[in-house]
This record gives sequence, structure tokens and C-alpha cells, in this order.
Amino acid sequence: MSVLVFGSAAADIVFRLPSLPHPGETILGDAAPLQAGGKGANQALAAARDGARVAFAGAIGADAAGEVVRGPLLAAGVDCSRLAVVDRPTGIAAVCVDPEGANLIAVATGANARASAAQVEEAALHPGLVLLLQMEVPAAETAALIFRARAQGARIILNLAPAAALDPAALRALDLLVVNEHEAAWLAAQLGAGAGAEALHAALGIGVAVTLGERGAMAATAAGVVTLPGLPVRAVDTVGAGDCWCGVLAAALDRDLPLEAAMRRANAAAALSCTRPGAGAAMPDAAEIDALLR
Ligand code: ADP
Repeated sequence: MSVLVFGSAAADIVFRLPSLPHPGETILGDAAPLQAGGKGANQALAAARDGARVAFAGAIGADAAGEVVRGPLLAAGVDCSRLAVVDRPTGIAAVCVDPEGANLIAVATGANARASAAQVEEAALHPGLVLLLQMEVPAAETAALIFRARAQGARIILNLAPAAALDPAALRALDLLVVNEHEAAWLAAQLGAGAGAEALHAALGIGVAVTLGERGAMAATAAGVVTLPGLPVRAVDTVGAGDCWCGVLAAALDRDLPLEAAMRRANAAAALSCTRPGAGAAMPDAAEIDALLR
């Protein structure tokens, strides 16, 4: 039983600003030190902090930003042996956050453009594996790994974030698709379907979970519909909430929790992550999640 995350790694520069800048505007604020980020690395960290055995496959550059990402992953016990060091700078995300926690993010892809499905050897894909992917590395590599994992019987979860085109056959090969409301609306428009979990489940024939921000999450699968409210918290920074949700959901499903229990845990973990600044650094551990669920 283990989780393999294939996806992006980036160093986040977080700017705390009195308000978010408009085009042409310069706003002075405070910056935190570089932090680990990238949806792939964030989700790997979230799953590992919740106690799963986690491996991460992705790409960084041979630079200081690469070590900013690798350090916390190793500290959380994530197997980084499939994290390639390539001849491009490590991805960078500039994250602007206002006092209400609203954010604006610019991403330089860098080394993530070189992440390759070939970094995952065939033996790593097996029925005891939960494979977790997102959309910040080349979609063709993501699709290729989904097809190989499907052939080997792994359980496959894709977080279609950011919303981007993927081979429809790869989408239909998933066990579970996770989208937020924006991504759900984008996908629904592509499919000519409704944007709710049930409509997307009917259109794709796979399990679909839609995260609903502070309102929680909803999922539709062949077994039925699950709706769970969010946990009320004082949110200071919602960056990475979706990543936390996906990582903890994968960890919980890896422990064979039923979907509803796994979603309840993901909601609690993501709510906790909203109470702290940063993305990777905000992921709670298993004891904190357990305490909130008690
Ligand atoms: P994303 O971060 O991808 O935009 P959402 O905004 O839907 O995704 O948030 C993901 C999950 O994080 C939600 O399903 C919920 O569990 C949790 N969450 C997000 N915002 C809040 C909030 N303000 N209070 C409590 N939980 C939240």
C-alpha cells in the first residue's frame, strides 16, 4: 500500500500585500522565505504528513530552488528517488496574498516541462498503489502514466488543476477525478455536460469529486452521491487547500477508508491548511486531523 504522486515541484515566493495588484500597479508588502510548492509536491507532502508511504516523481533544476522543494519532501519521509534533476531552472510560483486570504498566482514552469512518465518504472505500478496526478506537468506525460497505471491495476486519482485539456480516454481511465468549482465549470463546458459532480460522473462514467471551498465537497460515483460540509475555521490563506484535500484523500483511500470517510478527513485537513500561511508548509499532520475530527 502506497501513494505515488506524479506532478509539479516549485519554489513558492509568497508576498503578503495590503491588496492584490492590478495591471501596471506596484504594491509594497512583505515576503516570506522561499517555500516548497507546486501541486505535485504539495499533494505528496499532504499525503506523507497524514502518514502514507509516499513517493514523488517530477523534475527540478540543479539550483537552490530545487533544494527548497526537495528538503521538506525528504523531511516528511517522501521517497524522492524518482525526482529528476534536469537542465532547466526549478519551477517558481509567485503567490500574492491579501489580508483576507484572497490570492493571485503566477507560475514559471521551468523544469516541470521536463517531467516524464518514463521516470516511473513499470514495477512501481501495481494494484496496491494509489497514483495521484495533476495538470502542471505535460498533459501527454500525465496521460501516458494514467494508461500504464490502468493496465497494471493501480487506483488512479487525477486533480484536473489547473483546468487543461487531457486525452478523453485518459479521463475515462480514472477511478476518481477531483476538481474545484472553476475546473468543474471548465470541464462541463468541454463535455457539454452539467458542472455538478453527478452530471460529470454521468458524462464521464468515472467517480467525480467537486471541492466547494468553505462549503466542503461533493462526490458522485457508481455507489451514489456523498455530500460533506466544510469545517468552519478562520481562514488566513487558502493557497494549497485543494492540494491538501487531494493528498489527504489519496492517503486515506490508500488506507482503504471508504470514500465518505476519506472525504471527511480531506475536508478537515484542508480546513486546517487554510488556517496557516503557505502551501506545502501548511499541511497538517495525522494527529492534528484526528483532533479536529474528534
Ligand atoms: P482549491 O483550493 O483547489 O481552489 P477549494 O477552494 O474547493 O479548492 O478548497 C478545497 C477544500 O479546502 C474544500 O473542499 C474544503 O474542504 C477546504 N476549504 C477551502 N476553503 C475553506 C474555508 N474557507 N474554510 C474551510 N475549509 C475550506
